[in-house]
Amino acid sequence: MYTRQKVRRRKSPKGVWIKTAGRKRRKGWEAVAGAAALLAIVTGIYAFMEIVAQASPENPVIEAAAQAQKETEERENTQKEPISKPEQSPKESRSVAPLVVVDAGHGGLDVGCMEMEVVEKDINLQIAQRVKRRLEDAGFQVLMVREDDEYLAKEERVQMANHYEADAYVSIHQNTYEGSDKSVGGIETWYDGTDTGRDSERLARLVHQETIKSTGATERELWDIADFCVTGKTRMPACLIETGFLSNPQERGLLASPEYQEKIAEGIAEGIHLFFQPKAMYLTFDDGPSERCTDMILDVLKANDVKATFFLVGEYVEKYPEVAKRIAREGHTIGVHCYRHDYGELYESTESYLADFQKAYDVILETTGVKARLFRFPGGSVNAYNEEVCSDIVHEMTKKGFIYFDWNASLDDVAKDYEPEQLITNARKTTLDRKKVVMLAHDRVLNTALCLEELLRQFPEYRMKPLNEHIKPVQFNLPEEKQK
Ligand SMILES: [Zn+2]
Repeated sequence: MYTRQKVRRRKSPKGVWIKTAGRKRRKGWEAVAGAAALLAIVTGIYAFMEIVAQASPENPVIEAAAQAQKETEERENTQKEPISKPEQSPKESRSVAPLVVVDAGHGGLDVGCMEMEVVEKDINLQIAQRVKRRLEDAGFQVLMVREDDEYLAKEERVQMANHYEADAYVSIHQNTYEGSDKSVGGIETWYDGTDTGRDSERLARLVHQETIKSTGATERELWDIADFCVTGKTRMPACLIETGFLSNPQERGLLASPEYQEKIAEGIAEGIHLFFQPKAMYLTFDDGPSERCTDMILDVLKANDVKATFFLVGEYVEKYPEVAKRIAREGHTIGVHCYRHDYGELYESTESYLADFQKAYDVILETTGVKARLFRFPGGSVNAYNEEVCSDIVHEMTKKGFIYFDWNASLDDVAKDYEPEQLITNARKTTLDRKKVVMLAHDRVLNTALCLEELLRQFPEYRMKPLNEHIKPVQFNLPEEKQK
């Protein structure tokens, strides 16, 4: 017998959920008579839910009814199959590929929501099967909570995932809106924000964002307040996605179509894929250290366990040596920017550049103990001030064994006084989904420090890393290369 989960209804989302679970077993037609009575109760529940118009992914009354039916079936069906589980323990082949639990919501007597003959439990299963195929094609191990129309208590679903020590859990559901506005539609995703140790937020963000991208559906909320059994009791990163509204006639039609289901599956699978194989972003900060911003940025990086790269200005290292030391102490990569940030003086000649660089290099070494190998040209390797000398400088610096990094994305935080939100938008616009992003920012701009925490959350598909000399640099084309 299962222990009933405490259910708290959500007020804010406009959808209604009537949720539960499913399991692999032959249909117990013998139990149909008994189920008929229970179905009457369930129908009553739907009527009740229509009145309250609140969303909950779990419904204890329906679950109790479905559970009772299941137990009746089990008593009458002595030859029932065991729970569908992988033949071998996934643990044994775990080194090969992550194990993902794909949970098709509801099942059996617990149908979920239903509009005009379109039944949630069926849509959930069809999408789940498509997700499974895609994940397996991508090399993942997949554990399906149910593979046909069976009831499975939510506690059993969680138990299965925990028992096999799965690496991620994604539950698939549909929504319905009880108000008169049938145009309400779109995707919302839920995770348990109280448990920060599992990385569920990143999984939820990725599944949410990639499914919106693949379907073009309206983006609804990403909820961090899920206290559902499958998001709360699982020990691995977990989320629950509502892929659309059956109450919306247009969306209902789409959700029932194989083509649209495939788009949803593509997004969910891509989200999971990016969760396990994120792209690389190298955050780089120029022009510091500064009196206040650098420390603010270091605080955020530390709190999020992120390492970045700082291209330092020699005269500011002399001015704020403690900040420069902190950058080194906290494990970030230190590179050379220049000693004095004056384009005219720097790029007057190759000699003037090399002299400035040497001075900066020495100050950084003296202060932080770091022998910098990486550097960044003020204004980038090719800019309005250095066209005459840049190729020669690059040649000289490369001969000395230094490696320079330009950038392929930017917060654009020095050109104009942008608000923090706009800086994130700028970053997003210039990132262009690249596999490797070198992001330009400046640790002397207050709004850059202020947006950083949110910026880190807004790029769940990237793992933030510090630059090093083994990474193939991102470099602009030098003038002679452009002419080729
Ligand atoms: Zn600069």
